[in-house]
Amino acid sequence: MQGPLQNLEQWDEFVQERYDPNRKTEEFRNYEKATPGVREFYRLNHANQTREFALAKKKQYCGLNTSKMAIWEALEYLNTLVDDSDPDTDLSQIEHNLQTAEAIRRDGHPDWFQLTGLVHDLGKVLWLWGEPQWAVVGDTFPTGCAYSDKIVFHEFFAENPDSRNPAYQTQLGVYEKGGGLDQVDMSWGHDEFFYHIAKEYLPEPALYMLRYHSFYPGHREGAYDYLMNDHDREMFQWVKTFNPYDLYSKSASKPDPKELKPYYQGLINKYFPSQVAF
Ligand code: FE
Ligand code: FE
Repeated sequence: MQGPLQNLEQWDEFVQERYDPNRKTEEFRNYEKATPGVREFYRLNHANQTREFALAKKKQYCGLNTSKMAIWEALEYLNTLVDDSDPDTDLSQIEHNLQTAEAIRRDGHPDWFQLTGLVHDLGKVLWLWGEPQWAVVGDTFPTGCAYSDKIVFHEFFAENPDSRNPAYQTQLGVYEKGGGLDQVDMSWGHDEFFYHIAKEYLPEPALYMLRYHSFYPGHREGAYDYLMNDHDREMFQWVKTFNPYDLYSKSASKPDPKELKPYYQGLINKYFPSQVAF
């Protein structure tokens, strides 16, 4: 695999560690445990995710002209993302998506919520199409306005050309106060991409979960409240409800895709067409 991370899950694992509920508060802002690979990954992400880059990727991918796949087929395709992680301890992509969905299902949440768990990371197919790791995963943030110091490793933004553009470095930058997140161009990654794929098909709370699940500065740190409107704040309750299923649903027993497929195929058929534009 190309890039500073050994595999894409290294980013997810770093986030899990940062938000470990058993973590002592004094350790909270101590990222020293981050491996050199993780640090380098964030350096590249913060240096290269300019507003121009985010807008160009939206233009390139959000017309959904790259591929057509069935949802289950996309899960299996994502699973070809072979990495050099330890197969005994690490979950494959399909296992992580299924485990998230199963934890949501166990808690009795509605079927569309379970399905959201199943598909939430499908945007990572970007990596299989040759996008660098820093443009697929990583904590997301608004582009075109001042960087919050709540963003992990925010010091690396000094290397981002946007940090030298005064128009982008006021609190609101190119946006209006309270104008809502829909006006905001987030840094590019799997969240924004899959939101565009799913937006015709899933209910609004699901779309917020898909679009903002990596926006840790927003849903965990309370940053950028001045860009949100009341509707965003209401919908972010769903993003917050979703987050623990993404972070903490890892269990010793791996879900069996073969056994679970009939149930989830039923949910897929209910909400998505047989072929979906990516
Ligand atoms: Fe994700
Ligand atoms: Fe995930």
